[in-house]
Amino acid sequence: MNIKTRFPPSPTGFLHVGSLRTALYNYLFAKKHGGTFLVRVEDTDRERLVEGAVESLIRTLETVGITYDEGPILIDGKLSEKGSNGPYTQSQRLPIYAEHAQKLVEQGSAYYCFCSKERLEELRSQQQIAKLQTKYDRQCLKLDHEEISRRLEAGESHVIRLLIPDGETTFQDEIRGSITISNSEIDDQVLMKADSFPTYHLAVVVDDHLMGVTHIIRGEEWISSVPKHVILYHAFGFPMPSFAHLPLILNADKSKLSKRQGDVAVEDYLTKGYLPEALVNFIALLGFNPSGDREIYTVKELVEAFELSKVNKSGAVFDRLKLDWMNGQYIRSSDSVRLFELAHPYFGAASTLPDEQKKKILEVEKERLVTLKDLEERVEMFVRLPEYPATELVWKKADAQDATLHLTNLLKLIESADVSVFEKRELIEEVIKKYIRDNGYQNGNVLWPLRVALSGQRQSAGPFELLWVLGREEGIVRIQTGIYKLTS
Ligand code: GLU
Repeated sequence: MNIKTRFPPSPTGFLHVGSLRTALYNYLFAKKHGGTFLVRVEDTDRERLVEGAVESLIRTLETVGITYDEGPILIDGKLSEKGSNGPYTQSQRLPIYAEHAQKLVEQGSAYYCFCSKERLEELRSQQQIAKLQTKYDRQCLKLDHEEISRRLEAGESHVIRLLIPDGETTFQDEIRGSITISNSEIDDQVLMKADSFPTYHLAVVVDDHLMGVTHIIRGEEWISSVPKHVILYHAFGFPMPSFAHLPLILNADKSKLSKRQGDVAVEDYLTKGYLPEALVNFIALLGFNPSGDREIYTVKELVEAFELSKVNKSGAVFDRLKLDWMNGQYIRSSDSVRLFELAHPYFGAASTLPDEQKKKILEVEKERLVTLKDLEERVEMFVRLPEYPATELVWKKADAQDATLHLTNLLKLIESADVSVFEKRELIEEVIKKYIRDNGYQNGNVLWPLRVALSGQRQSAGPFELLWVLGREEGIVRIQTGIYKLTS
């Protein structure tokens, strides 16, 4: 069997981290089985559409490296299509849904309903007062053919409803096992709305079938819709796909992940300087553990390891600290060319420095970064020596005289050292360590004042790194400033 999965977002705004996980699992599953992964735009709810959401979604998927074999794509910023089962945007498939709904009406699996909004609201509130299940009462099922034709011809507003058969509906979920529900609990779902657009339920079943989807992997919130879909599959005589519903993503307090407790938009994480590969790795492990304690996986390794049977049933906590840790790991192990490219927007005050120097800053600072955005603050001291009091230059076991002595000696050392020394951190370190060793000094006496003079900060990168980034000239100026502060 040719495995085919899909990711069918509704373009209602940003890409939620939960949706990214859904897209990723569908991608991993398809790739693992040599199958096809498609993206479809589900834009039948016209009131919730957000301008530009499709484009931004496509860009985000591209940024995080989730590629798809079929679906809408952007070519020079313009929407186009890839694959032969399109169009992949539901609003462009309206005749297909109308035709399918019509077929259901003809075979008696669906019926026209002319009930007004007001009547439906009234019915609902009466049922609520009587503490009954809120459900359509099938008043329009009683209409005869002539009346239906007459009202349709008169252009009366109407919908098409699915006639839920008696009995019960059973389906298998790859993660949750067998699920059975009594059909008496299911409402006669509207399939075609008064605006001639299909509802999600009709469109999703028709499209998944026509597009050849074999595995439907999506969030747990959709599980309650499956019985309606199963009834539709039966009514159409379509072969049943496999279903797998992923566990919820939770906040640390086990509530459903929500905007109130932090970011949920993938775009926000990317702008904050989380690396796409770190985000993908982190999201992949929300509800799925390939093995043991290992946390870092490339996408290729995830593809190899992915199995629906290894997906947990219980909710997965979105642990921000773990994401931060993982991002740091990725920053430090990233290829330097790629990291520099990703870090580009975060150089802040240092943006105008030559690339060579920016690369050095990144090299030195990456050891302490949680996100790339942290760079913005850290680069400041490379551009401008911060104001600091002379007392900072004095190591806890030394005094101002000692600090002055060492800074003066270091200044001479640096002034007389060959320029080439400043091209390599190791060479700088060698020259300064030799001075410490030859004179039997303690590291703190020498390196503390030097580091503070170069950074103006109590905490910073080490003095050799700083000299390497700042270069000989700026290093000299900063050391002179330190000596001046101590002696004036
Ligand atoms: N359009 C639905 C959504 O917004 C898709 C649900 C499904 O995967 O069936 O997530």
